[in-house]
Amino acid sequence: MPSLSEGYSLSQYQKFQKKLVDHRSRLNPKFEKKIRQKTRYIIVHTSELGLDATLRVVSKGKQFQSGYKTPGGHAHYVIARNGRTYRILDKKYRADHAGRSMWNGQTDISNVSVGIELAGYHTAPITVAQYNSLGLLIDILEKFYKITDRDVLTHSQVAYGKPNPWFRKNHRGRKRCAKNFNRTKAGMKSNWKYDPDVAAGRLMADPELALVFYGPPEKGPLPLAKPAEYGSNLISKTNSAWSIAGGDYNQQTTVYLLPGGQTLPGNKIAGKIGWRYLPVNTKVLLNQDVTPDVIQSQAQTQVKIISSNMTAWSHAGPAYKKDTTIYFLPSGRVSPGSKISDWDDLPMGTRLIVGYKGPFLITRVKTAYQIAGKRYKAAETIYNLSLGKLLTGDKIVDFSHLPRGAKIYLPLPPG
Ligand SMILES: [Zn+2]
Repeated sequence: MPSLSEGYSLSQYQKFQKKLVDHRSRLNPKFEKKIRQKTRYIIVHTSELGLDATLRVVSKGKQFQSGYKTPGGHAHYVIARNGRTYRILDKKYRADHAGRSMWNGQTDISNVSVGIELAGYHTAPITVAQYNSLGLLIDILEKFYKITDRDVLTHSQVAYGKPNPWFRKNHRGRKRCAKNFNRTKAGMKSNWKYDPDVAAGRLMADPELALVFYGPPEKGPLPLAKPAEYGSNLISKTNSAWSIAGGDYNQQTTVYLLPGGQTLPGNKIAGKIGWRYLPVNTKVLLNQDVTPDVIQSQAQTQVKIISSNMTAWSHAGPAYKKDTTIYFLPSGRVSPGSKISDWDDLPMGTRLIVGYKGPFLITRVKTAYQIAGKRYKAAETIYNLSLGKLLTGDKIVDFSHLPRGAKIYLPLPPG
């Protein structure tokens, strides 16, 4: 039993340990367990996926469209958005979580660290429940390994990349994961004031990440993006593919969803569009293991579906909890976003429409035409027919025989 720090009570520790979900039996048998010789760091990640997909990927492995599959073992712990913590791999083994990485001259940080995945995105807020569980877990691990708050780092702090069009030398910025991690909210005090590998000239800084983790530079110009814009996965003049995806910008698993509904994988952007010509408001989706056509067919319909790779957050972003985002649950319940507790608590198969008002009940005296005007048979107009059957206006053949109780949802003007 670790000794107690001022922050947590004994009962908090006990409750946390008791509620820890043991997921170790789900680990891919192909993963080779090797005991780690030293533990110097704790590395915090955001998984860039919902909980179900996160648990699958860290235990079973990452699937690439080329057919290549990793053997799993990509984290020691996963923390869900409701705070529930899963043990993926016993902490004494090496987890394959940090990839090409360096801190204070030491490379391959997976060899000397514990990896914790927070279910969610670096462009979405981390929940209070996640911070509470993470704070407790870090406290327990720090005492066990005799390390301090200063040894807790994010993956985006320790990852580095090889030269690319943006950097002529090895550099930071390969990973963005957990750049939204607020150490203070996890109860941590001390921190690095600078990046030791940049200071020693081993790596070039990524200006945006440096601003997030170490504050404004003492000399030289400020980076383009403002921290407020870090919370978005939409391309803008100051939020580039690099800012959002880091070194994964040109990967097949990074999918670009263009404003017109077209999708392209990262490895096709240079040839088909060119990095400088990505339109503003292009959405960047990381860690996609389905083909871009699957995402495209989803993007081109007004009714979105929650699947293992597309969460309510990937569909709606911060609008997931607005009244104008309407959810149709598999149970038949219809709920506005304001009644949804969290975007990761929705079952797969839940459908949603984003930017809508309604419902408007169709009656004998109030026809679809009277409610929707000329838009009554448009693809943007949504009909909720009986038993949760959703159809867009353009798919309805006979408007004179709509079932009793049919309702209409109308799109709000954009903006
Ligand atoms: Zn990571």
